[in-house]
Amino acid sequence: MKISRATITLIDLPLLEPFVVSYDSYASMPSIILTLETDDGLTGYGESVPDGHITGETPTGTVEALRTELIPAVLGLDPRDITAVHQHLNKALKGCGAAKAAVDIACWDLAGKAANRPIYSLLGGRRPEHPTIARVMSILAPEALAEQAVQARSQGFRHLKMKLGGGDGLDVERVRAVRAAIGTDLAIRVDANQGWSDPATAREMIRALEPYGIDWVEQPLHADDIDGFRLLRQATGARLMADESVVDAADLVRFVRDRSVDMVNLKLMKSGGITPCHRMATQAELGGLKVQIGSMLETSIASSAGFHLALSHPNIVSTELSGPVKFAREPGNLAYVLPEVHVGEGPGLGVDVDRDVLADLTVSECEVMA
Ligand SMILES: [Mg+2]
Repeated sequence: MKISRATITLIDLPLLEPFVVSYDSYASMPSIILTLETDDGLTGYGESVPDGHITGETPTGTVEALRTELIPAVLGLDPRDITAVHQHLNKALKGCGAAKAAVDIACWDLAGKAANRPIYSLLGGRRPEHPTIARVMSILAPEALAEQAVQARSQGFRHLKMKLGGGDGLDVERVRAVRAAIGTDLAIRVDANQGWSDPATAREMIRALEPYGIDWVEQPLHADDIDGFRLLRQATGARLMADESVVDAADLVRFVRDRSVDMVNLKLMKSGGITPCHRMATQAELGGLKVQIGSMLETSIASSAGFHLALSHPNIVSTELSGPVKFAREPGNLAYVLPEVHVGEGPGLGVDVDRDVLADLTVSECEVMA
């Protein structure tokens, strides 16, 4: 079985409501769907959702990276030889985690389809319970967040993830309003997305949030402020999570060495797909850090890939892949039975891709073949 042809489709996904985080605001999400075909007639799907703020990749740049460098590097390879696939990708281009993730995911989909087994089965089998997701809340007015929290409770969610770091001085009021609205019914975690300017500010914020019972504080500081995490660790008792600070294995090593966080948020789009994230989850386990698998708001394709990985690895204790419930339309059919996610048991990703929906959302498309 050899990779013989690739179709790279840039799409634009309509969001149900605008998504607002500390560093940007989105009305819709661009995504790149990769279709890989093999010489024996199998079709596998991958996806790339680049975030320029985190890996420096853009949608059109990612299409070009795939078209001119990464796909030519893997044409003719057996997609089941995933180590060789990554060696070829890494030789062709440094970094570019989101672009490489599309190739990695499509190869795992093909490997599963060839073996007639779901991806989690190829990764060592799955835990029995379904993964869950948190309701992810944008940076909005405190009253609007309180309303959303009550709505989330009625929808069955058990966890809220509040985006903070908006720089308007209302972060503590946001959390206070939400806690007042829902009592202790739901757990709350917060993500500042690097939005608190320095360790002293972050320390003050974390102390001010203490009365409201926060599970953990994600990325309080700028991605490069590795020393700042050490200072925060000494100054507060809060559980800390690194996200933007951990893109590749070398970043993770620094946090393992410093023991300055409790958890890391790994994303297929930062690190190049299932294969590198599986390795990093083991690396974190050996260093005593727990892992969450997050996402950049991806369709059912990359979201499923993240869940297959999470189900298979005992050190992955949390999943936040909520893209499909935030889109008005998307080409896949991963089943969200909130707050649970029922991962498909079919071969590969276990996702059916609706080519008509894909065509409707398409901005541009190109093909690369051997
Ligand atoms: Mg985050």
